[in-house]
Amino acid sequence: MPQAEIDLILVDGCPAGLDCRLLGGERLVVYPLFAAMDRQPLSRLRPRPLPKAFVVDANLGALARLLRLCGLDSLYRRDFDDDEIVRLARGQRRFILTRDKGILHYSAVDHGYWVRNTQPQRQLSEVIGRLRLQSLLHPFSRCIRCNGLIQPVARDLVAGRVPAGAWREHRHFFRCDGCGQIYWRGSHYRRMAAHLAALGLQTP
Ligand SMILES: [Zn+2]
Repeated sequence: MPQAEIDLILVDGCPAGLDCRLLGGERLVVYPLFAAMDRQPLSRLRPRPLPKAFVVDANLGALARLLRLCGLDSLYRRDFDDDEIVRLARGQRRFILTRDKGILHYSAVDHGYWVRNTQPQRQLSEVIGRLRLQSLLHPFSRCIRCNGLIQPVARDLVAGRVPAGAWREHRHFFRCDGCGQIYWRGSHYRRMAAHLAALGLQTP
């Protein structure tokens, strides 16, 4: 592999430079640039599929909301620390998305990806493309506030809980089964749908 394409070298689980000396017997893992990390045992001939859920580090709140908008199960809290992220990733088989390479060096981390872009919409395109998530996307199926699932709810049940104008203009409403947030396909929906369409994603 050309050196320029090497992003991370781990020797026995520890980051190492290109000039590290090997004595023999070490476990050497080389991650190419732009590859997602997958530390499954090399001997596994038919590896388990990669996790389809995420835990997103504290610096990537806007990305977490965009992933939820696309229907991807994405845990995020502003006060997540590294230990909690690693615990959630291991305990719930979640893929870590981070801007902090350090967390990917924990030996307990099996699956992680260091997000290159700094702009949230570009981050979304990057993550969907690099992790090949296109077939998993279900836009507007998940609450952007809490990551809960959104279900249709009878219009009568939201009377008085949404602005009068929205209640008059819309027939179909949706409710988050986590936090109870009510959604409808108003101007915010249209803006987000246009944004997703620009990324080549179809919306309901
Ligand atoms: Zn919610």
